[in-house]
This record gives sequence, C-alpha cells and structure tokens, in this order.
Amino acid sequence: MASGCKVDRMVDRYDLASADPVYDSLDEGLLARWTGADGRTEMGYRSLTEWFNKRLLKRVYDDHGRETLGARLDSDYEVLQGDDDLARAELIEGLHAAGIDGDRLAADLVSWGTIRTHLQECLDGEKAPRTASTDWEAASVEKAVAVAEEKTETAVAALAEKGRLAGGEAAEIDVGVSLACGSCPTRVPFAVALDRGYVCEDHAAERATADRA
Ligand SMILES: [Zn+2]
Ligand SMILES: [Zn+2]
Repeated sequence: MASGCKVDRMVDRYDLASADPVYDSLDEGLLARWTGADGRTEMGYRSLTEWFNKRLLKRVYDDHGRETLGARLDSDYEVLQGDDDLARAELIEGLHAAGIDGDRLAADLVSWGTIRTHLQECLDGEKAPRTASTDWEAASVEKAVAVAEEKTETAVAALAEKGRLAGGEAAEIDVGVSLACGSCPTRVPFAVALDRGYVCEDHAAERATADRA
C-alpha cells in the first residue's frame, strides 16, 4: 500500500528514517519491536507509539540543543500528552525560548491508531496470531476499525488545527463495532459476540426463523 499516513509524514518532516538506534531504518525497527523479532520483547501499539513519539521529540530537542538526558524527555512527553493545561503552557513557553514550536510539536505526535495503521497497512506487517480471532472475518472488522480510526483522527486533527475542536490534537480516537439484536435493545461489542458465538441470548435461537419470515 502506498505510504502516506501521519507516521510517514512525520518521518519525512523530522528526518527520522534512520533514527532507530538499533536498526538501519525506523520502519524496520518498528516492525521488529512490534513482532518481537530478534529475541525482542513484543511491544504493543501504545508503547510503540510512545517510543516513536519520543524519537521525534529527541530529534527536535537535539536539533535545538535542548537537553535530552535523564528524565527530561520522558517528563516533557508526559506533559505534552497530558491534560494539565498550565504545565503544558509553561512547557510550550520554555520550548519556544529554545526556538521550538511546541504547539506544532504536540500536534505532530502520533496516536496509537496511526501507529497501528502504519504497521498493518503501510508496512504490511503481520504479527503472529495470539488469539483465535485470526480468521479473515474478524481481521476484516479489525481493518475497518483501523481505517475508521485513521480517517477520524485525520479529521479531528484538522478540526483542532482550525480551532474548532479544543484538545482534538491530543485526543485518542476510539472506534468500536457493536452488534445490536434485531428484536430487543441488547447491544454487544463485536469481539464479545464473536467470542461467545451469538449476539443476543434471548433471540439467538429464533433469529434464523425470523429472518426467513
Ligand atoms: Zn504509514
Ligand atoms: Zn434480543
């Protein structure tokens, strides 16, 4: 699939293609950390997102001579991603003094949904199956969710940039697929329904009959 997600744009913008301290390319490093290649511990989307964002932060800090040793990078990251507006404003002011556009930096950090899309679609990555939900039907729903999250995130980020959605740049997008029973108000997450094998306990049996009627 053609590259062009936010991760790819940020890799270009911040020249991160060779920012992995271990692997030749950042993409290679992301995939290896995700799948647990070379005897590594598998990392989830959230920890990979943090890892990527901190690479980005470090690159910007290094370029502007801002200290990255010790816990500074970690604590700055927490503040940028956190909801303490005062601490955030102070940090952004401090960054500004160092010649860094903190607002832009914060907006350029990626979300875990984007990292997921990047790994699964841009890099066509595959992780060894851990659960039974590796059949194409479940995978197809997962993919639809990832696409919805990616599109929503792009739209939300654009709205935030236009000042129409405060906090949108840092918001985590949560898209879920639920199944509703056709005969009663029961609603259940797709994964739960698939796991237990029915949508609604009360109407599981008569469903087939009702459909044919
Ligand atoms: Zn990508
Ligand atoms: Zn029902």
